[in-house]
Amino acid sequence: MNIALIAHDTKKELMVQFCIAYCGILSKHSLCATGTTGKIVSEATGLSIQRYLSGAQGGDQQIAARISCNEIDLLLFFRDPISAKPHEPNEMNLLRLCDVHNIPLATNIATAEALIHSLERGDLDWRDIVNPTADS
Ligand code: PGA
Repeated sequence: MNIALIAHDTKKELMVQFCIAYCGILSKHSLCATGTTGKIVSEATGLSIQRYLSGAQGGDQQIAARISCNEIDLLLFFRDPISAKPHEPNEMNLLRLCDVHNIPLATNIATAEALIHSLERGDLDWRDIVNPTADS
């Protein structure tokens, strides 16, 4: 499966801890991320991650484009719900595209934990039928 990771600055440490905890599961899949999120997660875990631009520079839109092409099977987007972001409209579009394309989406760690266990159990394997070109 193709998994995309994005974390706002206040949630980056949480994303790192999450990826350390579930490194064994995540390592079986193809990972991509916005620039800084991908950098700190790969440095902390050794996971191989395709890095796009930083979110503020359009990395979230690069991931949105892949979602539009049905190339992403799961999005883990740890959002800071308190502080406003200049590129928030783009992020809203990213969330909208997940709904358009029926992509499983976690915007907080509680949902991310549920989805990662679902992924490990094979509950998300229906994505392979929808998206047969995705890795494993
Ligand atoms: P970043 O982007 O991973 O490059 O920091 C995420 C964001 O939109 O804040």
